[in-house]
Amino acid sequence: MNIILLGAPGSGKGTQAEYLVERQKFIQLSTGDLMRKAMSDKTSLGIECEKYISNGQLVPDYITNGIVNEYMQKVNDNLIFDGYPRTVNQAEFLDEMLNKLNKKINLVIFIDVEESILVERISGRIVCPTCKRSYHKINKMPKIKWICDFDATPLIVRSDDSPEKTKTRLEVYSKQTKTLISYYEKRNILRQIHAGNRSADDIYSEIEKEMELIK
Ligand code: ADP
Repeated sequence: MNIILLGAPGSGKGTQAEYLVERQKFIQLSTGDLMRKAMSDKTSLGIECEKYISNGQLVPDYITNGIVNEYMQKVNDNLIFDGYPRTVNQAEFLDEMLNKLNKKINLVIFIDVEESILVERISGRIVCPTCKRSYHKINKMPKIKWICDFDATPLIVRSDDSPEKTKTRLEVYSKQTKTLISYYEKRNILRQIHAGNRSADDIYSEIEKEMELIK
């Protein structure tokens, strides 16, 4: 089974992907994580991605699709797509890729969170660069301040989590990614979860229920 997690920046896609990996043995394909890895390795791909990421803009489709295509030559089932696709062009490219491999997207989970909550979450977000878990400066500090509970790595603030970049990212989401809701709705594989301020565990249970329904 392949699942897409769709939602605005800060909607909790990464956290749900992490749960699905830990509890259901899925494999997470996060384009954001792959791009940040390329950036920290300073590869030519990373240098190219940085130009866009540091401005809160989407990395062009031909680069992003290339990254996913390369990844899927090795792994192409049991995937959680986290942060991909983000444009109709990417969604069409993914369909074509899966088609060729005789695979498909079985479920799209749209995590719906109101904007005020997104802003509040992103403005306090601190992340572990090693395991990618995220914390919050006010609501969810790790046991030892600024040190990851799981692997003891010092936590960082993502450079694109600044208020100005966040504003751009939310605008980009509204303009370019939201159209994917109707793209997948038409295929009848989209399920919307009203997240509000509910706990990540609560949302995870809903995702599991939706997975059961399509088994
Ligand atoms: P968030 O969901 O909080 O924005 P991500 O790690 O998914 O975090 O994305 C961070 C940034 O990486 C995006 O703002 C964008 O610049 C780039 N990026 C990630 N995924 C994609 C994608 N599918 N298409 C284009 N750019 C992407």
